[in-house]
Amino acid sequence: MTQQYRITLLPGDGIGPEIIPVAVAALKAVGKQFDLQFEFQEALVGGAAIDETGNPLPEETLEMCRNSDQVLLAAIGGYKWDTLPRHQRPETGLLALREGLQLFANLRPAMVLPQLIDASTLKRDVVEGTDIMVVRELTGGIYFGKPKGIFATETGEQRGVNTMAYTEAEIDRIGKVAYDIARKRRGKLCSVDKANVLDVSQLWRDRITALSSQYPDVELSHLYVDNAAMQLIRNPKQFDTIVTGNLFGDILSDEAAMLTGSIGMLPSASLGASGLGLYEPVHGSAPDIAGQDKANPLAQVLSAAMMLRYGLGQPAAADRIERAVMQVLDAGYRTGDIMSEGMQLVGCQAMSDALLAALEA
Ligand code: NAD
Repeated sequence: MTQQYRITLLPGDGIGPEIIPVAVAALKAVGKQFDLQFEFQEALVGGAAIDETGNPLPEETLEMCRNSDQVLLAAIGGYKWDTLPRHQRPETGLLALREGLQLFANLRPAMVLPQLIDASTLKRDVVEGTDIMVVRELTGGIYFGKPKGIFATETGEQRGVNTMAYTEAEIDRIGKVAYDIARKRRGKLCSVDKANVLDVSQLWRDRITALSSQYPDVELSHLYVDNAAMQLIRNPKQFDTIVTGNLFGDILSDEAAMLTGSIGMLPSASLGASGLGLYEPVHGSAPDIAGQDKANPLAQVLSAAMMLRYGLGQPAAADRIERAVMQVLDAGYRTGDIMSEGMQLVGCQAMSDALLAALEA
């Protein structure tokens, strides 16, 4: 029976309107092969929404996202809106979207592709074969804990305060997501904390350890965050799935991403409690190359594959898209951001054509 899905598309700004159609075309192509029917609806977010409505996240956009099965976002932002007051900035719209959809789990894969191994700043023998998924808690921890602010002390000196806090329920919720993902990958989960110093981390470690009895097939380990930062550079291949809190995850997911050296190739997913998720490339709106047919659409396409895998439960269709991406890279096609000697430089449109040809072959 044909599966039907309603997908909200948020092209946003900059290269967004160039790369979203490539992902849509890829989804339609695998849809035909796997009996999936997509109904796409498009909405405004970021600078495009500011220009049209004065609001970086119009209420209709949030409603449309809530009334869909999944949301595919490109990127927001650009020079034009950089001087607006903070509440009217494109970035404010993105934060409001994540909050409005209650997205608590951020998934950031970092895979070193054999075809792009020389894009990494680390030695080939260190990064070769790296395939990591960082699962970051997104709605708790020190970015949201209270009290927070800058207060005057009794002596009149100012004191800045943030609070790192996690409840058992918050830890269990992200822990389960991470165990489930590790189970679908190579069955190894490394929890990162600072339990030797922080009480909140001790609770984190206790709860993640307690959950392990429900996942006997997943091998659990723990690392302190300072050691994890070192191990990621020293021997990234030791990691499969990493789970960590908001602050440590913010830093480690960027560190892991840089092992790959190619920002135009990195997808991400943010999952909510209701099953609704937001899928987007890690890169921004690249205003410096917008409208010039220079954008690499593959991170957007791989975000659509993540949507199939983690949001729609269609791993075979996700595999098909990921395989097609490998095929175009094997064939030597490269956009400017991943170009190297001897390869064929192509624009966004030509990369899209090559990808569709691979998908339909
Ligand atoms: P950026 O990721 O947009 O660009 C950094 C560099 O990488 C640029 O030289 C750009 O041309 C290149 N690049 C990025 N994506 C590419 C792609 N797919 N293909 C080819 N080249 C690519 O980061 P930035 O320049 O710091 O930010 C630009 C704007 O994007 C800002 O307004 C920023 O706020 C916004 N931004 C948005 C998001 C998001 O929507 N999640 C994330 C980061 C930055």
